[in-house]
Amino acid sequence: MKIHEYQAKEILQKYGVPTPQGIACFTVDDAVNAAKQLGGRIWVVKAQIYAGGRGKGGGVKIARSLDEVRQRANEILNMRLITHQTNPEGQIVHRLFIEQGVQIVKEYYVGLVVDRSRQRVCLMASSAGGMDIEKVAAETPQKIHKIFIDPIAGLNHQQAEDLVQKIDIPEQTWPQAIVLLQDLYRAFEDTDASLLEINPLTLTTDHRVIALDAKMNFDDNALFRHPDIVALRDLDEEDPVEVEASKHELSYIPLDGNIGCLVNGAGLAMATMDIIKLYGGNPANFLDVGGGATTEKVTEAFKLMLCNPKLQAILVNIFGGIMKCDVIAQGVVAAARDVQLTVPLVVRLEGTNVDLGKKILADSGLPIISADNMADAAEKAVNAVKTKSNSLKE
Ligand code: GDP
Ligand code: MN
Repeated sequence: MKIHEYQAKEILQKYGVPTPQGIACFTVDDAVNAAKQLGGRIWVVKAQIYAGGRGKGGGVKIARSLDEVRQRANEILNMRLITHQTNPEGQIVHRLFIEQGVQIVKEYYVGLVVDRSRQRVCLMASSAGGMDIEKVAAETPQKIHKIFIDPIAGLNHQQAEDLVQKIDIPEQTWPQAIVLLQDLYRAFEDTDASLLEINPLTLTTDHRVIALDAKMNFDDNALFRHPDIVALRDLDEEDPVEVEASKHELSYIPLDGNIGCLVNGAGLAMATMDIIKLYGGNPANFLDVGGGATTEKVTEAFKLMLCNPKLQAILVNIFGGIMKCDVIAQGVVAAARDVQLTVPLVVRLEGTNVDLGKKILADSGLPIISADNMADAAEKAVNAVKTKSNSLKE
């Protein structure tokens, strides 16, 4: 799960991480009032969307008067912000963050991620922070310094000191920077974050470092421990199809291809996508209906796949272990009728009551293509797409 910058900064402040003063708003008038309330003479008007790269896309602008705050807020609110992290259509800006402007002496980069292969949290930092960090990572990776944190010991003083030294933070700022890194790590640990990025971490004229930007993602599997974080979820920022899927407890991820997959079990779903590829096809989605798929769930799953205009065939691949094949078959038949399926449907069933399941499919009168095994199913789905596109050409 992702959250907005201003929300991440609120969390970080609780851990003692300094950030500029700011107020989130939904209207231009509120933005001007926020600037008045914050005081000072320079403000930054920032688009709040889940994607980064806002600065380059025109979503972060400095304002030197209240009139300019109004102007900038007007420009940014409701704009379609396109950055290298949004999809090509961009993301509409519904929220703004008005912050007191900060004079930047130098910009650093700090990031925390989970390194799965090392089973450690990795703390990365660079003296080359700011808007081109992706370029730094690609072209001069030696400028990014990493340490791996022992989960029992936490981030110790020595490690943190080594890092601030490596990224050339001035010596008088070391003590504060070390505490800041430790606070960031505590925030990361406590919230079950999967990513925490401060870019830029800014050196100010009074020799402090502060978090000028903040990005936090959280491990979805740990969200049950954090109702306060779940409450921050902004559905405007999420793919509506994925939101709908999560309501029905379906794991659904849209992909670029045209063969929809409906599978029980994440591993089998991955294998199904692989075998579609092997036979020269392209999966339209990943979809795991889970262990206890009901007729309703299967129907919802069909509806989700059918939202995709690229969809040309569906492959249902179910292993009936706990779930019996006849129940699944009934679900598939009911769902196919309910959604008035317009694309070829290939079904491969295996496991408990498989013969009964196949009989239900055959007796349904629906044009279901039955498959005997995974390879057969993938081949039939790929051929169905080919036949469909050939007949369109003719
Ligand atoms: P991002 O482009 O989505 O990562 O958005 P950021 O929050 O990082 O803002 C982009 C850039 O705007 C930063 O790298 C800064 O250079 C600049 N910026 C943001 N806030 C301030 C500020 O208070 N003062 C100044 N001078 N620049 C700022
Ligand atoms: Mn940034």
